[in-house]
Amino acid sequence: MSAPRLATLLARGGAIHADPHGATSPPLYQTATFAQERADAFGEYDYSRTDNPTRGALEALLAELDGGARALTYSSGMAAIAAVCRTVPPGSTIVCGRDLYGGTQRLMHRFLGGVEVVHADLSVDADGRCLGLEAAAERGRVALVFCESPSNPRLEIVDLRAVALAAHRVGARLAVDGTAMTPWLQTPLDLGADIVVHSATKGLAGHGDVTAGVVCVRDAGLGDELAARRNAEGTALAPFDAWLVLRGARTLGVRVERAQGSAQKLAQWLGDQPGVDAVHYPGLEDHPGNATHRAQARGGGVLVTFRAASAELAARVIEGTRRFTTAVSFGGIAASISAPHHMSHASVPPGAAPRPEPSLVRVSVGLEDPDDLIADLGQALRGGLADVRQSHGTHEVLGLEGEERLVDVLE
Ligand SMILES: *Cc1c(COP(=O)(O)O)cnc(C)c1O
Repeated sequence: MSAPRLATLLARGGAIHADPHGATSPPLYQTATFAQERADAFGEYDYSRTDNPTRGALEALLAELDGGARALTYSSGMAAIAAVCRTVPPGSTIVCGRDLYGGTQRLMHRFLGGVEVVHADLSVDADGRCLGLEAAAERGRVALVFCESPSNPRLEIVDLRAVALAAHRVGARLAVDGTAMTPWLQTPLDLGADIVVHSATKGLAGHGDVTAGVVCVRDAGLGDELAARRNAEGTALAPFDAWLVLRGARTLGVRVERAQGSAQKLAQWLGDQPGVDAVHYPGLEDHPGNATHRAQARGGGVLVTFRAASAELAARVIEGTRRFTTAVSFGGIAASISAPHHMSHASVPPGAAPRPEPSLVRVSVGLEDPDDLIADLGQALRGGLADVRQSHGTHEVLGLEGEERLVDVLE
């Protein structure tokens, strides 16, 4: 039989093969210890900090989804990223993309002693050279390149195949934060990356009821090193949380397909709205990374960001929606809306990549009817523009051409 495709893996995923009762749904082994036959004889499991059957079932599924030798789960996405950073020897450099989740920047710039962290332009020229990375490699020993594609929150695209080759040329590993895509849409290990990390809190678990992180590696030796350290430090995902992620992940495919279809529709609609200066969605043909993204992913994903005509308008739109929860995080069943400047990226320390502008709005599309979401954003935009017009006169915010389009909408 040929290898199962992702949908089949997910539907069947998480079975515990040696379960003595043949449970058809993955059982929750909510136990700290496992009895041993003798003091000097260990069974497959002895202590849940080290290994637990429920967590093991989840990790086996995740390794298959991402096509890695081994997947390890942690108490959060940040714990997973911290574990990856810890593989970098002191005295060497981590090169990051320019746009990165705020918490990752906080961790890297404030809490990694002895490691230099720089942000570089990871774009690749016609000869496949990544000049930003080469320049960093001239100044220090680069051990790790770390990026997101699409990045959070600007949804910029990095050519992962080319950056993997460029990283290997300077003797570095490439780690990709795949949170925004999930393995359903993109498998960076297949593109040449060495490590993929996910905040499973987002789309992988998908129900907003657990925080969890994943590291999946191509090389089994690196997997063993990470597992040994995780056991020593005790940062593994708890069994109940592993069970929740497993339960959520089994519907990953249908959730992502449904939500990204709506996200595409919403992004297209947003492009024509007064008060919206720019829409960032890698599934749009006019997105600068669209061709690269199409060659390395299976869809634009569930996140759409847009730049409102002003920070004030952005705030009014966020407050004015009724079918979007104002909340950090994304990839859940219900739609959410946020201002990355004030929320997910508030922790970006000085010296890191530039913080997103306050006029940027990030939307995560859920399983709602897309027409309801569009109608709601439409009323929030119209209401926000009317408020702004009352306090300033809209032409200050939109320019005269925008004002004319707005008059059509409001009247
Ligand atoms: C949320 C997020 C993280 C951090 O994950 P937690 O589970 O919140 O610790 C890392 N990377 C990206 C891209 C994220 O969106």
